Amino acid sequence: EGGVELTNPGQLTWCTSLPYEPFEFQQGDQVVGFEVDLVALIAERLNATPTVVVTAFEGIQSGTDLTVGTCDLAAAGMTITPTREENFDFSEPFFDATQALLVRADSGITTAEQLAGRNVGVQNGTTGADYAAANIPGANLVTFEDLGLLTTAIQTGQVDAVIQDNGPLLSFATQNPEFAVTTEFDTGEQYGMGVRTGNTALLDVVNEVLATSRTDGTYDAAYEKWFGT
Ligand code: GLN
Repeated sequence: EGGVELTNPGQLTWCTSLPYEPFEFQQGDQVVGFEVDLVALIAERLNATPTVVVTAFEGIQSGTDLTVGTCDLAAAGMTITPTREENFDFSEPFFDATQALLVRADSGITTAEQLAGRNVGVQNGTTGADYAAANIPGANLVTFEDLGLLTTAIQTGQVDAVIQDNGPLLSFATQNPEFAVTTEFDTGEQYGMGVRTGNTALLDVVNEVLATSRTDGTYDAAYEKWFGT
């Protein structure tokens, strides 16, 4: 692909954080999911092989992984924020999300007010952690490094609630009906993919592929595959 320089020639090396079902998660020895399928389209367009690097979300969202060259592309259910935009460049938005509240289905907890005095799990470096810190002052926030540790914490009773994005929490509740998403906070977030600041050659391809996927049906097919009922 003319103009696009890849750190590992022939490979689209991309960073993500797991588990984040249905966007990216481990299935057998494969990393699969909605965003994985979108990255595969980008790699195909570059005549490259997608090579996933699984890393902590904190290093993705801070821009460190992109800056030091761990990967050329970051795709991790990552919300576009002004702070992050100072550290790397985002694609056009490709998915809408909000913060959501996961609790035991029989807990009766449906509002932020009811979380006062309770242990609430959040993930380090996420918009959910920021949202909870700003909007749920009475709660005892407990920080975890990834969504797997968060869901384990609510299963073991270490926390009474989890605040993270609606997509993965709804997916978890569907698979674990003793839990429910009882509120969405309507934070109006949009996911983007990240590239190193100034890597417009790659960013142009990412945006072109995302736009094309909307018009040629591949986005809808992937959506149906990973979110369809
Ligand atoms: N969308 C949230 C954020 O960008 C959470 C992302 C994640 O946990 N992978 O902070």
